[in-house]
This record gives sequence, C-alpha cells and structure tokens, in this order.
Amino acid sequence: MILDGKALSEKILEQIKLEVPKLNIKPHLAVVLVGNDPGSKIYVNNKKKTALKLGINSTVIELPEDTPEQVVIDKVQELNNNPEITGILVQMPLPDHINKDRIIEIIDPKKDVDCFTPENVGRLSIGMEPYFYPVTPQGILIMLDHYKIPVEGKHVVVIGRSNIVGRPMAQMLLQRNATVTVCHSHTQNLEDIIKTADIIISAVGKKVVRCKMVKYKSVLVDVGISRNADGKLTGDLNFDGFNNINEILEYVEAFSPVPGGVGPMTIASLMLNTLRLDSSSILSSIANR
Ligand code: NAP
Repeated sequence: MILDGKALSEKILEQIKLEVPKLNIKPHLAVVLVGNDPGSKIYVNNKKKTALKLGINSTVIELPEDTPEQVVIDKVQELNNNPEITGILVQMPLPDHINKDRIIEIIDPKKDVDCFTPENVGRLSIGMEPYFYPVTPQGILIMLDHYKIPVEGKHVVVIGRSNIVGRPMAQMLLQRNATVTVCHSHTQNLEDIIKTADIIISAVGKKVVRCKMVKYKSVLVDVGISRNADGKLTGDLNFDGFNNINEILEYVEAFSPVPGGVGPMTIASLMLNTLRLDSSSILSSIANR
C-alpha cells in the first residue's frame, strides 16, 4: 500500500473548506518570516496560498535578515495581543543572531499552532492535552489512521530527535500506547534496531533506511527531504535491491513516498490546527462522503 498523503490532504482541505463558513471564530494565521532563507520563503508562501484557498485569513510578516532580536520579540507580542490573530507561526530557522528559544517562549500557547512553546510541549510530555498538536507528527498519525494502520502495541522506531518531528512524534505515539524507540546520530547498530520495527518513521534528511533490511511487512513513513544527485526531491528510504514498485509493495506493508507523502499532510495538519478542527471528525466526514 502506498500512503498517499497528497490525495488524503486534498480531501482534508476540501472538507475544511466546507467547514470554514460554519465556524464561530474567524481564523487568522500570522506567519513571521525573518531573513532570506529560500526554502523558508517557499514553505511560507505555500502555507499562505493554502490558507487563502480555504478562506482563512493569513498575514505574512516579513522582516529583514538583520532585524534585531528585540524587534522580533515585539512583533510576536503584538500578535499575541491582537484579538483578530488566532494562530501564530514563527518560521524556522531564524538568523543566527536571534535566540530562537527566546522567541518560542513568548508565543502565546493558545495561538501556538506549531506546538513549539514550552507549555504545549510540556503538556504533550506529561500526557495532558496541548492547545495544539505538533503539525508533522499529527499529520503522520492522521495518515496512519486513515489507512487503518494501528500503532497501539506496535514497536515504532522513530529516527531523528528534533523538536519538530522526532521528539513530539515519540510522545504522541506513547500516548497511543505504542512501544517507541528513538534513534539519532549517536545510535549504535541502527540497522539491528530497524529490523525489529513494526513501523519506522524516519526524519533525518539522509538515506538511512535500507528497505531491503526492514522486517517483512513493516510500515515505512518517510519524513526526510533531501535532493538526489540529479536534483530531484527524495526521502530517507533507500530502495536499492528492489527491481520495481511491485516488489516493494510485496515486501513492505505500506510506505509513504517523497514527495507526496508526509509533506502535504503537514500542511493539512497546520490548517486543522489553525481552524481548531478535530481531525477524527474530519476523517469520518471524508469517509462518509
Ligand atoms: P533535524 O533537525 O534536521 O535533525 C536530523 C535528525 O536526524 C537529528 O536528530 C540527528 O541526530 C538525526 N540523524 C542525523 N544523522 C543520522 C544518522 N546517520 N542516523 C540516525 N539519525 C541521524 O530534523 P528535522 O527538522 O526533524 O528534519 C528531518 C528531515 O525531515 C529533514 O530532511 C527535513 O527537511 C524533513 N522534514 C520534513 C517535513 C515534512 O513535512 N515532510 C517536516 C519537517 C521536517 P542528532 O540529534 O544526534 O543530531
């Protein structure tokens, strides 16, 4: 089975568009972008375009690369205090002279649609509901739920321990009663650990998972994004040794492609957060359509 995040995210976004007019709140997402990182500009524009398509107000605050830290702090405070702004997202990475932790800790947790603030991360870690779930891990769980892949009781190996993917992914999986192993660049015998996984979620940005080595009928979720020698986007999964897609699909239970897997689910998940919509009711509306 291919976990088609692109098709699923399109269905979710169509459903969200139907929900927007029924909402009591008028959602308004503010994105703060500091500097000239080309990747960040593309991500921010995609978020804005998607929001506008759905009828969600979105404002991008672009600040120059040399903006002093205090100016960014003041801008975030202003957004915190603006009752019309319902969601705030500070695009990472920030320029080196800005302490990202200082920025993150002043975002109002009730507007923290990315689940970056210590309050939301802390809530997630102690099993309390955060105001928002982190968007990429939430998108992955929505995708697994949609494809009826249970995580309860499964051994899930998460590769990568970043604050935006690996760590919160592990917390959300624990909350769902999975048995979780988190691996990183210091992990020894990664291949041996991978072989014991029922589900592998890889968020590294390098080809670290040799799919010929995974357990028969395991589920592979590819979060990584990098470029091949020919410039094409690719993920962390290495399919060397398979002759064609049919051989892969015979061997693994499911895998998510790059592009077209987790990436689109992340955007859909951010939109769900911005509208404060419950993903399970959106999934059941999609299933009933
Ligand atoms: P990150 O900050 O880029 O860190 C990479 C993680 O991989 C670190 O935890 C690092 O370990 C670990 N790592 C590096 N080399 C490794 C190795 N050889 N074996 C095992 N682990 C290794 O992480 P990120 O921000 O989560 O991004 C990871 C990838 O996901 C990137 O390619 C990014 O572009 C992509 N991404 C995609 C989406 C999406 O929506 N599709 C969203 C977010 C990120 P240490 O902690 O020890 O350094």
